[in-house]
Amino acid sequence: MRDKIVAGNWKMNLNFEDAIQLGTNLNAWVADNQPDAQVIISPSSIYLQVLLEAVDEQYVKVASQDISAHDKGAYTGDISGEQLDSIGLDFVIIGHSERREYQGETDAIIAEKLKQAFKNQINPIFCIGEKLEEREADQHFEVVKSQLLNALKSQNTEDLSRLIIAYEPVWAIGTGKTASPEQAQEIHAYIRKVLNDEFGVEIANETSILYGGSVNAQNANDIFSQPDIDGGLVGGASLKYEDFIQIIAACK
Ligand code: PEP
Repeated sequence: MRDKIVAGNWKMNLNFEDAIQLGTNLNAWVADNQPDAQVIISPSSIYLQVLLEAVDEQYVKVASQDISAHDKGAYTGDISGEQLDSIGLDFVIIGHSERREYQGETDAIIAEKLKQAFKNQINPIFCIGEKLEEREADQHFEVVKSQLLNALKSQNTEDLSRLIIAYEPVWAIGTGKTASPEQAQEIHAYIRKVLNDEFGVEIANETSILYGGSVNAQNANDIFSQPDIDGGLVGGASLKYEDFIQIIAACK
């Protein structure tokens, strides 16, 4: 059985006090309501350790928004997998479209970051997704296939049991435009087929594939009811407690 997962990507939002408040409120809600979905929050790196201490990992897990592609050394501003592991962190978002766009992250860099996550027993939430012009040119299947294979082909197949994929069409991130549940299902089923063809049926069946792109309290039910959608990676709506708990509750 694949895990149902709702992950909140807080990006570069929330001050210290607000981050702790939201994390502890979510922790209390999950403890009281025992949702089906595993809940993950991804704050800015300066709050990772304090949030790990503020929440109970049986209710809320904490993810880094990035990991270095390197082991250690002269990489100012980077945080290594070993450092993340040393504070007890188990999840990391890798290859988010904002990092691909603003930090110039290529598939090759993302492949190295995935290696660092696996090497340090950290579960990656690996983001893929096409841009608007690629969708309009009907290239979305080939784009996600090449993003997947470029990053995953060089990994050890045993490590892929830790993999979580987030399909996030770039045109739907932070825009208020959502892929229709049918559009999302179509490409999630395709991603699963690529996993099956390349890495075998077990990886295909066991990998949680999350949808991301303007998920909110109103559309979460329809999106999460699709058979190949195992939850969501949520940006803007994860910053609003009331909205985020409704999204978590919709993931069954
Ligand atoms: C994201 O950044 O991963 C995301 C899906 O953002 P939003 O929900 O705001 O579209």
